[in-house]
Amino acid sequence: MQTLALYGGTPQRDRLLHYGRHSIDDSDIRAVVAVLRSDWLTTGPHVEAFEQALSESTATREAVVLSSGTAALHAAMFGLGIGPGDEVIVPAMTFAATANVVVYQGGTPVFADVDPETLLVDPTSVEARITERTRAVIAVDYAGQPCDYEALRAVTADAQISLVADGCHSLGGADRGRPVGSLADMTAFSFHPVKPITTGEGGAVTTDDPALAKRMRTFRNHGITTDHRERLKAGVHGYDMVELGYNYRLTDLQCALGWSQLRRLPDFVASRQRIAREYNDAFSNLPGVRPLAIRRGVSHSYHIYPIRLELDRLSGDRDTLVSALRAEGIGVNVHYIPVYFHTYYRERFGTGAGLCRVAEAAYQALITLPLFSEMSTADTADVVQAVQKVISHYLV
Ligand SMILES: *Cc1c(COP(=O)(O)O)cnc(C)c1O
Repeated sequence: MQTLALYGGTPQRDRLLHYGRHSIDDSDIRAVVAVLRSDWLTTGPHVEAFEQALSESTATREAVVLSSGTAALHAAMFGLGIGPGDEVIVPAMTFAATANVVVYQGGTPVFADVDPETLLVDPTSVEARITERTRAVIAVDYAGQPCDYEALRAVTADAQISLVADGCHSLGGADRGRPVGSLADMTAFSFHPVKPITTGEGGAVTTDDPALAKRMRTFRNHGITTDHRERLKAGVHGYDMVELGYNYRLTDLQCALGWSQLRRLPDFVASRQRIAREYNDAFSNLPGVRPLAIRRGVSHSYHIYPIRLELDRLSGDRDTLVSALRAEGIGVNVHYIPVYFHTYYRERFGTGAGLCRVAEAAYQALITLPLFSEMSTADTADVVQAVQKVISHYLV
């Protein structure tokens, strides 16, 4: 057996391989530079162009772009009129922003558990959390895999509540041919650099409901009903602020980049799926680790590739294995600590252990391996070899 880098052996790689990374090519750069030379750096024609391209690629009527994925989720909560006294069900296994946006609106996030094999929100757990105060569910397409929206729809339709998708991981994915973006009443996306496409920071909401889209466009512009370019076109100077909104606009520079990135999305997804297949082949039969299960009929966009450790077969815990892999030059991560374990949630809502047992157990065993579209075959092989090396060291 080789000595682990953690214990003084030679690392698998000299330079750390990061867990995620953007891909920017000359076409992206040209698109942004053209905007820099134009009349509109923000609220210009590239906003509509990017929105139209997004709604086309997600087969939806409307796409509203915003300054981040968090702003997009916040806009979705505002669009639904979530306020004090309202409950919104969110999975425990997600990034904090999914729950935070409910709190921004004065509502209460209620945490549902996840399926042990996919780590996607469990419709049965959602159903069990519904009360007369529940107004919506935010389902998270964890890792890039679309949730079971058919089962979720059955639950939310019965209770007459809204179904929102947090698609921050899953742009480019699909379920039986239907693209992510069109599977829920509203879907929020993020364009942060590690996400499926990037605008630096950025986000969007897709929906088939024009009234909701209109509300969200007002919300991203201070609650004002028209934007600068619309007033210029109409030859008027007056404007009215009808609601309390924010400045959550996405600039034309970013929209041009997003438009260009969206054209590259099919290639990005194909690369991610190819790398995931190599990982699946390497890890499906490796004692000590288990890849996540994939639902039948879905096209997974593989934002991340988490593996679960079989802790009862290993002499080291998750954190030890994370340290060992990082010492080998593999930039592994953990997605996610259950949201309600964060200090803010413990102190504000009194949450703690025992709320979602599947998510809590999964958290102890999860490691996210590097995955991004520009990873080379040699990079992937480094990850596979480092995992095999580290696992065989701790296997009992
Ligand atoms: C990234 C992410 C967000 C927030 O998106 P930002 O663009 O970083 O604000 C929300 N939910 C999930 C699941 C995410 O991964």
